[in-house]
Amino acid sequence: MTTIYNFSAGPAVLPKEVLQQAAAEMLDWHGSGMSVMEMSHRGPEFMSILAAAQSDLRELLAVPDNYKILFLQGGGLGENAIVPMNLMGRKPQPATADFVHTGSWTGKSIKEAKKYGKVNIAASGEAGGYTCVPARDSWKLTPDAAYVHLCTNETIDGVEYQFAPDVASETGGAPIVADMSSHILSRVIDVSRYGVIFGGAQKNIGPAGLTIVIVREDLLGHALPICPSAFDWKIVADNDSMYNTPPTYAIYIAGLVFQWLKQQGGVAAMEQKNIAKSSLLYDYLDSTDFYENRVEKGSRSRMNVPFYLKDENLNAAFLAEAKANGLLQLKGHKSVGGMRASIYNAMPIEGVQALVSFMQDFAKRNS
Ligand SMILES: *Cc1c(COP(=O)(O)O)cnc(C)c1O
Repeated sequence: MTTIYNFSAGPAVLPKEVLQQAAAEMLDWHGSGMSVMEMSHRGPEFMSILAAAQSDLRELLAVPDNYKILFLQGGGLGENAIVPMNLMGRKPQPATADFVHTGSWTGKSIKEAKKYGKVNIAASGEAGGYTCVPARDSWKLTPDAAYVHLCTNETIDGVEYQFAPDVASETGGAPIVADMSSHILSRVIDVSRYGVIFGGAQKNIGPAGLTIVIVREDLLGHALPICPSAFDWKIVADNDSMYNTPPTYAIYIAGLVFQWLKQQGGVAAMEQKNIAKSSLLYDYLDSTDFYENRVEKGSRSRMNVPFYLKDENLNAAFLAEAKANGLLQLKGHKSVGGMRASIYNAMPIEGVQALVSFMQDFAKRNS
């Protein structure tokens, strides 16, 4: 049987061991006689699942004590509204948020934030077709911004920050808000450099439906009056993510992924694997004229690798043959076309090796 490798950008591949454990525990979690889906979120069984997931995530990312970890709903796009509703109130109204525009996802965040305050595009990669992170010294920040929003990994454009910027001196201490939906837990980060880190779970953590928010405590309590209570970070934090019913099953699976990550050696070990996996693919792309990746070398994503066949007439054949070889969901996002290989934590290096072998063989047969 052909081994299957799933390159979906999200919802995406999960570790096989996690799916096997979830299957084994599906009908009866730890002798409780219940599936996790059937438990009260306030019962001792689920409370223990939530507490373990929270403390394992805190350990994996070395989240400092003055940060809260929240389990929310609404996804990354929901946070595009929830962030300004929680942070614009830090400054007199109308307040301004700064954005570094690096591609599709910051574009959506900018559009949404305009409903709740003023937006300043501090820098933009538009002129270059969103193929790089604008250099830090080109950013034109607002002196008293409510916050500075970055998407540290642009899932569609394949652009990733390789540095953690400092903005405090130019903004009077504005917090950085980072959308890490598609690379959280893929590399070591210093959480203290950020005010807020958020991400939808369905790229690198678990099932769709769960949104993770890591927020510094002094940023709680500034929500605009229009902010729904269920999305007011302070209310959610005061209720330990139990203000309303959290996405219990998604939290359970995320918790299993966190345990799996710890068994793999944690985030530093994952980062080394992700460097090896992405280098394998980029090195091949750089060695051939048959395919190309258009992102500047210093801004290339380790998680999402968009690439194009020079002869786009071969796209359909490439995808059909890849699928026949067990290499699934390689089609690029419809807004940019081409191909995209998403190689999240749960993608083993064998999957990238199989992809490169197939690409070499396809190129040989069609050159
Ligand atoms: C997928 C993604 C989102 C959107 O997430 P939803 O859960 O669909 O709302 C936002 N930001 C980034 C960077 C993403 O990759």
